[in-house]
Amino acid sequence: MSESRPSPDNSLVALYPGSFDPIHNGHVDIIRRAAELFGRVIVAVYDTPDKRLFFTTEERVDLVRRAVTKWTNVEAASYATLTVEYAATRGARAIIRGLRATSDFDFEFQLALMNRHLNAGIEALFLMTSLEHAHLSSTLVKELSLHGAPVEDLVPNGVAESLRSKRERA
Ligand code: ADP
Repeated sequence: MSESRPSPDNSLVALYPGSFDPIHNGHVDIIRRAAELFGRVIVAVYDTPDKRLFFTTEERVDLVRRAVTKWTNVEAASYATLTVEYAATRGARAIIRGLRATSDFDFEFQLALMNRHLNAGIEALFLMTSLEHAHLSSTLVKELSLHGAPVEDLVPNGVAESLRSKRERA
């Protein structure tokens, strides 16, 4: 089937928030697809997620930045406020989230409704994972890397090396 890929010619901004600890190919796929829909995509690395982090905020932003250099309408940033507040500050009309399985849905549904309660002017937009990335999560990538399994096929360039050197320094 032919693919229609109009270049993003609008000025709509989308925020793609997450922990990105670290960024993996499932995230990159969502970013690529969002970049085809929006004039600008801000990949927003949340400073203090309710998770034990492997990488610092600066490291997570740097890995995202290196993974998105080929898209001129994508940028990486960090934030430490509520996501909707940051989205509003940056002029974003939509918050993008990726969905892998039905298990993601319950939490995302609750989060989207809470965000709408806080700011009804910002729409939640869900992009379904591509089948080849449905099994991917940052947690599994870290787990594999900790046990010395190869992760090069699962993450953008530079991330596997960063995981390795961080592990060796720990
Ligand atoms: P968070 O801690 O906010 O869930 P993550 O970095 O784990 O942050 O994920 C950021 C976003 O990317 C979330 O919307 C998540 O559902 C989505 N995501 C994570 N893994 C995948 C994947 N394999 N395919 C598509 N989307 C994904």
